[in-house]
Amino acid sequence: MIQTVGIKTFTLRNYKEIPQVKKYLSKEIQEHIRVVGTVLPFKVNNYVVDELIDWDHFEDDPIYMLTFPQKGMLKPKDYKIVKKALEEDISPLELNKIVNHIRSELNPNPAGQMDHNVPVMNGERLAGVQHKYEQTILFFPSHGQTCHAYCTFCFRWPQFVGNKEIKFAREETETVVEYVKKHPQITDVLITGGDPMTMRSDRLRAYIEPFLEVDQIKNIRIGTKSLSYWPYKYVNEPDTEAILELFRDVKKSGKQLAFMAHVNHPAELSTPVLKLAVENILATGAQIRTQSPIMKHINDSSCTWRDMWTKQVELGMIPYYMFIARETGAKEFFSVPLVRAWEIFKHAYRRVSGIARTVRGPIMSAHPGKVAVLGPTFINGEKKLALSFVQGRNPEWIMQTFFAEYDEEAEWLDDLQPAFEKERFFFETELIDDVKLN
Ligand SMILES: *Cc1c(COP(=O)(O)O)cnc(C)c1O
Ligand code: SF4
Repeated sequence: MIQTVGIKTFTLRNYKEIPQVKKYLSKEIQEHIRVVGTVLPFKVNNYVVDELIDWDHFEDDPIYMLTFPQKGMLKPKDYKIVKKALEEDISPLELNKIVNHIRSELNPNPAGQMDHNVPVMNGERLAGVQHKYEQTILFFPSHGQTCHAYCTFCFRWPQFVGNKEIKFAREETETVVEYVKKHPQITDVLITGGDPMTMRSDRLRAYIEPFLEVDQIKNIRIGTKSLSYWPYKYVNEPDTEAILELFRDVKKSGKQLAFMAHVNHPAELSTPVLKLAVENILATGAQIRTQSPIMKHINDSSCTWRDMWTKQVELGMIPYYMFIARETGAKEFFSVPLVRAWEIFKHAYRRVSGIARTVRGPIMSAHPGKVAVLGPTFINGEKKLALSFVQGRNPEWIMQTFFAEYDEEAEWLDDLQPAFEKERFFFETELIDDVKLN
């Protein structure tokens, strides 16, 4: 029997009440949390604190790094500015100005999220929807724009810091359904956030049900971190049965429910309640697929990925994507160079069953598309870096291999030079409206 646990959430306002913070964290470390947490989102809960973090080794603990703000996440100069502002007790208005300026320099909307992928229907922009790849639309329901805890590396951080301009959400499904019907190539709706599984089941149902009556839709996907941050949701909460019923109803309508679980580290898969949650979700007929970025301080070792994929398969989950950190937020603190990410992927991939090799990566979700790093290769005796499109803004690019000059330092597509003294990559000529590739 899993005991019923009520959720207790901690943010900058009350984190000092966490018993482990009092017991293990020095005043200095608590100051790091306060300063960095003023700029970047910070939220954690009792499950993460009590079940997932090994407090005796918190300095190296991946889940501690995943959820608690770290000093290195801000540039030293920004850290000093915020620290000073907090010490001087300036007005909230002044503090806001300083903080917003720092945030604006942290590239809050990478890969053209705001401008490029928002569809237009009847002359109106469908805010809260993105349609970048033929078959799949992303849908950001406005009630799902929070999470049970926040990841320190999150590229969606603008959604959580309360700046309306850069928030991205939608309350109303009908127009989205109308848009889908006008685009018969769309087969997938990916409901995302934030975390849509922070919603009550009746709200979530209201968003999902209209799609169940649309024949062309084959897959409802839900992108969520809830399995890792609050598995009780699927085990013993008052709303649990209604959530599982909704999942069964998706399946009954003849569609697949793909539960896209974000899992960053095998530690998240270690608790009895997680195991039960997975069993309950799978019993509804849903599939669980997994994805994660590769992040320094959290999961930048091949053993971690091997263990994680092995454990996922053991639990009945399907490994799906390994991503490279996007260019936003505290990227410098977490980023792993492309070649190093490829090495880690390779060593992990070689040591898991073929059943776990459904995973694709390492992948940059960049402006032109999802670009996989295929690895170093020799052409006419010269070392180059091979890449390929897994998804493309232009579908003609998918499965196209292309080459960059070998570069061990490069961390993103726009750090790479086209190989063979070409001026541009083949796809760049088509992206004339964009000066900078994200
Ligand atoms: C990753 C992504 C998808 C889904 O791509 P799949 O390869 O089908 O998993 C859809 N839309 C956007 C904008 C994405 O970044
Ligand atoms: S769960 Fe996803 S959206 Fe939420 S904070 Fe973590 S990375 Fe960001």
